[in-house]
Amino acid sequence: MDDKIEKIMEKVEECDIKFVRLQFVDIHGAAKNMAIPLIRADQLEDIMKEGILFDGSSIEGFVDINESDLVLKPELETFSTLPWRPEEKGVCRFICDVYWPDGKPFEGDPRYALKRVLSKYEKLGYEYNVGPEPEFFILDYDDEGNIIPLDTGAYFDVEPIDQGTDFRRKLVMDLEALGFDIEVSHHEVAPGQHEIDFKFDNALKTADAVITFKQAIKAIVDKMGYLVTFMPKPFFGENGSGMHCHQSLFKDGENIFYDPDTPTQLSETAMYFIGGLLEHSRALSAICAPTVNSYKRLVPGYEAPVYIAYGFKNRSTLIRIPASRGKGTRVEFRAPDPSCNPYLAFAAMLEAGMDGVKNKIDPGEPVEFDVFKLNLKELEERGIETLPSSLWEAYHALEEDDVIKSAIGDHIYEKFMEIKHKEWDEYRIQVFKYEIEKYLNI
Ligand code: GLN
Ligand code: MG
Ligand code: MG
Ligand code: MG
Repeated sequence: MDDKIEKIMEKVEECDIKFVRLQFVDIHGAAKNMAIPLIRADQLEDIMKEGILFDGSSIEGFVDINESDLVLKPELETFSTLPWRPEEKGVCRFICDVYWPDGKPFEGDPRYALKRVLSKYEKLGYEYNVGPEPEFFILDYDDEGNIIPLDTGAYFDVEPIDQGTDFRRKLVMDLEALGFDIEVSHHEVAPGQHEIDFKFDNALKTADAVITFKQAIKAIVDKMGYLVTFMPKPFFGENGSGMHCHQSLFKDGENIFYDPDTPTQLSETAMYFIGGLLEHSRALSAICAPTVNSYKRLVPGYEAPVYIAYGFKNRSTLIRIPASRGKGTRVEFRAPDPSCNPYLAFAAMLEAGMDGVKNKIDPGEPVEFDVFKLNLKELEERGIETLPSSLWEAYHALEEDDVIKSAIGDHIYEKFMEIKHKEWDEYRIQVFKYEIEKYLNI
């Protein structure tokens, strides 16, 4: 028996595992799974070797009802027991790849889209790393059943103003049990808002980790009787939740964004990568900020990016270069929010950056002042453009951008556009309380 398989079988025995969950994501990056109760000793071995057939027709963005059979194949490295499930007769899970029954990878699987883009650049010797900063809210319900933030805390507050302390304590420890290398956790700017950061890794591992992170946090806080949301902007007038992504590119074990011999110690590759991200940022928004609600976060005044520019210490720009150099040299892209599908977002971000490297796209001069203080005329004079202000605009930017389209592949692109078009239409016919207040007396 394969070594890896044997080790997993031992662990399953040792941890008294009864259920094996086979997990994957739909086009939105929502976690999906099916659980298989273990009744025979050789059953798990078969699943690990052969995978399992499932009906893909009810999964958003997958297949039509007349070609519904797909296969889930566990990625053995992703084996993990789930700490929020019972200890006795516990649960383990694998993140799976999706295949057609004939063994070909299924092109609608977002994880495959990222694998495809990564392997294209791995063949050229590149390793792409991402370190995300996911933000989220812990919420409660008031007597009328409306959602309210758990506390009135603000940035870096301590208990008792920060009512999230014990939640984060539990979350950090459970995430560590799941194999996460947690770097920091803290209260964020908005009431009830928190951030937990984990160590960067190659983009595929990080995308898997983002899915596990969201799933674990929601499940654990739900068990504690509260609600977690990763929606980008739950409250008007308060900061929204972003998922800034720190990116670096390695070759032969060296960080090739670092060059000790330039005044900024950033390499030419890093500058062109930034150029590519800026150039494609409007289309990238459709993937990295993919909901109607995402565009309520990307507005001036809430530390979220609006203007297409980069800077060093500047947190008002779309891209920031943190001070760290050497192996830690990185480019922080601040548009993504946690409603994105991380597999698609990272595939698109890498293709955008590498298009900059390939075509030597000059990012121009850095911006080292608060761009939010400029008026429209000043922005225009400096040639600073803005991110899309709605999903509709982002959707059209994506339509025009072949590099970002190719990053997600034809199947996902077609389905994505169909779904997002519907989402926009559904939204635009609503009548909101704001409109009643503003226009009722006309
Ligand atoms: N919440 C902000 C955003 O939406 C980020 C704030 C911060 O990390 N200081 O991007
Ligand atoms: Mg942070
Ligand atoms: Mg933050
Ligand atoms: Mg940040």
